[in-house]
Amino acid sequence: MQSINPFTGQIIGEYREYSSAEVEQIILKVDRAFHSWKQRSFRQRAVCMKNLQAKLIERKEELAGIIVSEMGKVKREAIGEIEKCALVCAFYAENAESFLKNEPIKTEATESYISWQPIGTVLAVMPWNFPFWQVFRFLAPALMAGNTGVLKHASNVPGCALAIEQLVREAGFPENVFRTLLINSSQVKTVIENPLIKAVTLTGSTPAGRSVASAAGFALKKSVLELGGSDPYLILDDANIATAARLCVTSRLLNAGQSCIGAKRFIAVNKVYDQFKAEFVRLMSEAKFGDPLDGQTHIGPLARTDLRDELHQQVLKSVELGARILLGGFIPEGEAPFYPPTVLENVVQGMPAYHEELFGPVAVLFRVKSEEEAIRIANDTVFGLGAGVFTSDIERGKRLAEKGLEAGCVFVNDFVKSDPRLPFGGIKESGFGRELSAIGIREFMNVKTVVVK
Ligand code: NAP
Repeated sequence: MQSINPFTGQIIGEYREYSSAEVEQIILKVDRAFHSWKQRSFRQRAVCMKNLQAKLIERKEELAGIIVSEMGKVKREAIGEIEKCALVCAFYAENAESFLKNEPIKTEATESYISWQPIGTVLAVMPWNFPFWQVFRFLAPALMAGNTGVLKHASNVPGCALAIEQLVREAGFPENVFRTLLINSSQVKTVIENPLIKAVTLTGSTPAGRSVASAAGFALKKSVLELGGSDPYLILDDANIATAARLCVTSRLLNAGQSCIGAKRFIAVNKVYDQFKAEFVRLMSEAKFGDPLDGQTHIGPLARTDLRDELHQQVLKSVELGARILLGGFIPEGEAPFYPPTVLENVVQGMPAYHEELFGPVAVLFRVKSEEEAIRIANDTVFGLGAGVFTSDIERGKRLAEKGLEAGCVFVNDFVKSDPRLPFGGIKESGFGRELSAIGIREFMNVKTVVVK
């Protein structure tokens, strides 16, 4: 397993994959750790979680450096990612107990209630795009609930995977409460089948989700899936166009466009389309790509050359079929896998840019006649992760958010962000189940009914 810096092209780490026997041994140890960890009080678990929060903040520069070197995001964003991990640790350290307290229910019995009990070791299969955040938003609630975890991280970020395991250890969690497995994706099915693994959560692409959910389904184990997205943003006739364009560009370019909840499709009604387009393209053209360690850089390289080339093919194929390039759309000179901010219009059904997720800084603009047509195009996708609406009429925005848009989260007059306090997840091929908030911590619990006659 190699870790390659996408900006320099240098191999920065080489790791040996674990054998099946080593994986089995680790899972056995993690299961043993579960039986004592679940006995600890919330207060005891919270001490470790608060230590973990402090370690993240103490070492944020160094940890952000590992992220930048393995997947290429700009340093400023990597530091923000580490800070957000600290936030989710604090959130669950403070709230897990109240989220999981017994819930009395009135029946004819003397007493009846729901008791939330941990289920054991959960496998987390995670992607490289937010290599710390994706793991921490699983890890913090899972460990606070009394579960234990094993992580199979994306193959291009083994350094992040091992750094997280080490941090958990240093924070004073008991040995083997959380372990990293350096394995490739073909070994995941065997891990799911291991009787000591009780559930699986995957954040990643839709094909990976299908494969993991099938294995979990066959083994009769619960799964939570956070998959891809092609988030639509509606720009209505009463929107503040300057604000809409600024927030849409920010969302599209965050993490060099490699975000599941990045704004990807921009649907503006006729009356404001030209104004929105001019401002959007202007702001996209101002974003500079370059060295992720340089404070002036807006977007770093994409994480891998194959992913950049795949994105470019989606653009080229769409152009061949009639899409028009308003900005970008070429492979820059040099070895690093950069892709310039790119804007397409005239995109219609049948083109990759219409149907597929564009996992990079590529935006698609749609001109529509009405709010109804905007909703129709927004929902004409297999994905249902996030969505946005820009309008000065808040009631109209809420109506479209609640009843119009098919998505797991809709933001009115802002772009979609994950927040430890709010449930996060999608519908349709964007997955099922929720992370974060009280709902997220309850996903991997035994919802136990207790009745006293
Ligand atoms: P990916 O290729 O699906 O990989 C994600 C993880 O799944 C990696 O650990 C990968 O391991 C593993 N994996 C891949 N195929 C597998 C299989 N058949 N069986 C078991 N495990 C498998 O996705 P990615 O390219 O790393 O990440 C980008 C995708 O993730 C995008 O579609 C993005 O939208 C989505 N994403 C979703 C969310 C969300 O919250 N909804 C958040 C972030 C990203 P290897 O690296 O070893 O292949």
